[in-house]
Amino acid sequence: MGKIYIIDVTNRDGVQTAKLGLSKLEKTMINMYLNELGIFQSEFGFPTTRHETHYLRANLKLADMGVLKPIRLSGWIRALADDVEITYKLVPEIKYLNLSTSTSQQMINGKYLGKKNKKDVINMMTEAVDAAVSLGAETVGVNAEDGSRTELDFLIEFGKAAKRHGASRLRYCDTLGYDNPFTIYDTVKALAKEVGIAIELHCHGDLGMAVANSIAGAKGVIDGGQDAYINTTVNGVGERAGNADLVAVLLALLKSKDFANKYHLADKIDLSRSWMLAKFASYAFRIPIPINQPGVGANAFAHASGIHADGVLKDPGTYELYGYEELGRGEPETVETGREIISGQYSGISGFSHIMGQIDSDKTVSFRDTQEAEKILELVRYANVAAQKPLVEDELIFIAKYPEIAKELLTMTPLDYIS
Ligand SMILES: [Zn+2]
Repeated sequence: MGKIYIIDVTNRDGVQTAKLGLSKLEKTMINMYLNELGIFQSEFGFPTTRHETHYLRANLKLADMGVLKPIRLSGWIRALADDVEITYKLVPEIKYLNLSTSTSQQMINGKYLGKKNKKDVINMMTEAVDAAVSLGAETVGVNAEDGSRTELDFLIEFGKAAKRHGASRLRYCDTLGYDNPFTIYDTVKALAKEVGIAIELHCHGDLGMAVANSIAGAKGVIDGGQDAYINTTVNGVGERAGNADLVAVLLALLKSKDFANKYHLADKIDLSRSWMLAKFASYAFRIPIPINQPGVGANAFAHASGIHADGVLKDPGTYELYGYEELGRGEPETVETGREIISGQYSGISGFSHIMGQIDSDKTVSFRDTQEAEKILELVRYANVAAQKPLVEDELIFIAKYPEIAKELLTMTPLDYIS
């Protein structure tokens, strides 16, 4: 019986969303929280994009140090042998890759304007898989972009070719959010059966069905005899109407009617980190969490009407499917209403010492001497320049704990590859 794995793509699909972005430290914090949550893999960035290089290598160092462990960090590139080569030149330590190409006639026509056909697409993809395998990738996933508008026969042919060349997963992308739970179930079940490869479900929310499609897809893949990998993003951020929301997917897998009796997550999930992660992503992306967001919205556990309030007061199960404590909610939050000293790009040592002194005693980091504190403060200033907003406590602690990694994350040297 196949199992379900979560691959979060916030640091790839999430950040490529129009009008949104994250600093490299914020991306790193997302990886840290995902790891604490027990997520199998984070698609953590773009290995061929130069401004990602330091960030990617620093995060792979964190993995090596056992800080980002057991989460896997995977890169996303185009399915081109040249891109694989650039990847291994810039980020030689990378172990997991997803190679992406378009498979629908609409996209092949639209992107290549008649210069390439389906056969060419398969050839380019298999050359890229060959290159990745020969350069040492431990797992290679192949993405069929616009898979939901691709004929099943071609998807099967594409998947079989990928498998023959050493790919271990096929990502079925419902790029435009076109599928519904019934169509995706049938398609990916057939794909899993015919190709005999693990299938990733990559669903978008243009018709409001990203989460439902992910769950139906996972069932289809497992019924077809393979492992299912669901792609999610934190708070559902992503292109246009967004991707399948991570917390909603986890809740649906674990709490929806009869699902978890038969279909199981492979990893132990610590749902209690959900609240922290959702709040951080909301702050970092500068997008408020909708008040009716499953699990983490302000109204997710709010009751006003007489009958409902009376019901939950007597027994929460009357009107709640799951408890807020499970998601890590319920701690009172203190909001400063008087004087505030916050970190900024022009902070000085006195203000900085004050801020660090305010951090909870169980998390606090002490400095050996003023020199060390000055060094950390300098990194905090740079991190503020990159984020353009005050750092949160966990970011300050991260910098104080891993100054060398922070330095690498904050290093940007444009155009140093042109020489
Ligand atoms: Zn996408």
